[in-house]
This record gives sequence, C-alpha cells and structure tokens, in this order.
Amino acid sequence: MNNKAIENKNQLHSVNYLHTPDNGIIENMNDEVEVVCPSCSPKIEVPHDVLKSGQNVVVQCQECGSVHPTTIEKPKKLDVKVIISREEESFTCTHRMTSEDAVIVDDEIIIDDEENDEVYPIIVTAIDTDEKRVNAAMAPDINTIWGRAIDEVIVRISVHKGRKTQALEKRVPGGYEFTIGNSEKAEQTDFRITKIKKRDGSFLSSRGSVVEAKDIKRIFADEARRQGWGEGRTAWSMKGKRQGW
Ligand SMILES: [Zn+2]
Repeated sequence: MNNKAIENKNQLHSVNYLHTPDNGIIENMNDEVEVVCPSCSPKIEVPHDVLKSGQNVVVQCQECGSVHPTTIEKPKKLDVKVIISREEESFTCTHRMTSEDAVIVDDEIIIDDEENDEVYPIIVTAIDTDEKRVNAAMAPDINTIWGRAIDEVIVRISVHKGRKTQALEKRVPGGYEFTIGNSEKAEQTDFRITKIKKRDGSFLSSRGSVVEAKDIKRIFADEARRQGWGEGRTAWSMKGKRQGW
C-alpha cells in the first residue's frame, strides 16, 4: 500500500472515531441511583438501590445500608462554555450537557456546538468551577471546560541524520495512525519511525506498535533512504542516477 492509500485509510478511520458520547441519563425507574446518603455521605452521591419508586422514592444506601427517602431530579439540560485550543489558536464554543454529566481531565469528549453546527472531538485539559481549577466536576458546577482539539493535530518529529537531528512537523487528523517501523514523509523528508513518545509520558519502541496522532508527544525517526522510485520524480529524471543509491 502506498502512502496515499494509507493516508486515505487513516482519514476514514478518523471519521469512524467520531462516536457519540454516552450521556448516561439516569431514569427514575432504575434499580440503582446515585444520591446523597444522610447517614454516611451527606455531600457526595453514592450508589443506592431503589426500594420504592414513583412519587415518594425510598432508597437503600449500598455503602452503609441505611434506608431513607430521597428525591431523584430529572437531569436538566445546560450549556457549558468550552475553550478549545488547536495548536496556536483557541476559540470558544458551547457544549450541551445534562446536570447528571460529569467531566474529567484527560477524558476524550465530543463537543457538539449546535449554535455553530460544529463537532469537535477534544481531550479535556482543565476544568474551572467558579472557585478554582479542578480535575473533575459535575456539569452544574462547571464554569469553563478547557480542551485540546484532536480532530487535527500537528505531530512533531525528530529525524536523526547521522549526528544531526532535524525537527519536522506533520499535520494530520487526530485518528491518523503512526506505526513504528513504517516510513512516513514530512516537509519533503522521508523518515522511518523508530520510537514514539506518547502524551502520557510512555515510550514505545517495538516494531509494529501503532499510536494515533492525537496521543503522540513526539516521533523519533531515522532518515529513510529511498529504495524505489521517489514521489514526484519521473523515470526520466531518475535515469542514470540510480547507481549511486
Ligand atoms: Zn449510607
């Protein structure tokens, strides 16, 4: 498969991963609900079994076993401000959530900005409540979600050329797959991937390992010597030059 075909395949793949997030709306009739427990957890919601549903709900705490009445509110819809950064620029949009939704830093979520009819897959980088920056929050407590766009990313590549290292960049869809051992091209330079440093800090170096562009911190590579016909070169221009290769 040539590079173009791989690129096309990756673009298809990147469309496939635009899944819809599971909003997990809790219905009143569920056997299990998360509500505060007056005995053991008056501030934080914990799992309870529903003993009686309907108008006057009675639940039993799974933590301490106490039985108590509760109210289960229907999740409200609300719009949360999201600031998305894409490389050097950033822009603001809104994310429709329900009062039951939680957001956690490092989560991958799909921002569906109905106002602008745009969809942005992002990785959450920070969450602000009115008081402070937190690692996780329920939607009603959120002031601003900060995220990094992963629909299109710039991957940085260090290419070893003898003793020198060349820094390259390649712009690809977030779902574009890089494979250790494979050849790629950026800024007119062919290179073969030897190692990949991921954004979570881990290092991969085994041949055949695949990492999606959105998870990559840096690619390490060796300069690749062309084995066959080069891209953009005709047989004519290559004539008489192959001996030296
Ligand atoms: Zn309890």
